[in-house]
Amino acid sequence: MTVENILEKLVAFPVLGGESNLSIIHWIKEYIESHGVTTKLVPNEEGTKASLHCRIGPAVDGGVILSGHTDVVPVEGQEWTTDPFVLTDKGDGKLYGRGSCDMKGFVACCLAMLPQMVEAQLKKPIYFAFSYDEEIGCLAAPELAREINTYYTETPKYAIIGEPSLMEPIVGQKGIYIIETFVNGSAGHSSRIKQEVSAIHEAMHLMLWLEKKMDQLIADKQLDDRFHPPHSSIHIGLVKGGIAPNIIADKASFHWDLRTIPKDDIGSIVAEFEAFCSEREALNRKIFPGFEIKNVEHHPSVPPLDTKADDDIVDLIKKISGNSKLDTVSYAAEAGQFANEGFHAAICGPGSIIQAHRANEFIAKEQLEKGVVMMHKLIEELSSENFS
Ligand SMILES: [Zn+2]
Repeated sequence: MTVENILEKLVAFPVLGGESNLSIIHWIKEYIESHGVTTKLVPNEEGTKASLHCRIGPAVDGGVILSGHTDVVPVEGQEWTTDPFVLTDKGDGKLYGRGSCDMKGFVACCLAMLPQMVEAQLKKPIYFAFSYDEEIGCLAAPELAREINTYYTETPKYAIIGEPSLMEPIVGQKGIYIIETFVNGSAGHSSRIKQEVSAIHEAMHLMLWLEKKMDQLIADKQLDDRFHPPHSSIHIGLVKGGIAPNIIADKASFHWDLRTIPKDDIGSIVAEFEAFCSEREALNRKIFPGFEIKNVEHHPSVPPLDTKADDDIVDLIKKISGNSKLDTVSYAAEAGQFANEGFHAAICGPGSIIQAHRANEFIAKEQLEKGVVMMHKLIEELSSENFS
């Protein structure tokens, strides 16, 4: 099958983040096994979803993991001019479809080059690591990366995460954490605002604390110029609460996200916020003993990626991608999770992130070709006696 045939097949599985991905993962499994390679599934507890990993080549240390995710984001409310789950060639050099660039294009490049990988005399192995639920918080990658570390007797050295980067090596990624904060106050007539505890007024204190925290980090020069913006950001995107102007709100909540540069620690910023919440609780319980603030995480935090420019993985990607300009991104990806497992990790894949998550998502054919060329060069590198 050509890379386009495979991409067409992959796009036809409308598996969204959060949904069962067994249909697509089983198709991939059968395809890989039809080329004589054994695969291993890593299912979730309920057995409704699974990641897949496999090794091509010898069981020796120092191999390269190629990581991709099998889920995509929804198409609801977007104005598509073609069926998002039918890969469409409009004759303009682009292939349209949900996931064509984020990131089934990369997975298709891996699969299309599998026969050549099998035939090559690889001195170091290549691993495929395909996950689920990436789009709802990179949920499956930590377990998949850990499993690869424990399952094989040998230890892979590198991980290339094929998120769309126009084939440029991406060495940094911000960490991400999303929280919903619930405030439980006491209700009453608005004139009694000093006798009751308004959940909205309290939520306001908390939100202002968050904004001040961000400003403080900037003022303290906690910056990393590789990122845009160069500081950790804290943003409140959704606020709920209240009934009427003359009623004190007993409930309020807000959603916020924290995107950290590698030198800021998600855990300690959240701990500081929680300490402030405790202070507010102690203060307000003197007026209303039932006062409570609860912080509920949306999903476990996604760690940042902080690969140094002189890391071996950067040399490798520069060689096989043909691009030497390093970049960073502020979106969530699995790269930091693979790095946390000890692999030298970086992002590099075909297509542009600009096309991801929007209507009429596409991958340029020329990008898909570049992805295939990268696989060719990877095989060449790993077949060389000198590769380390
Ligand atoms: Zn993606």
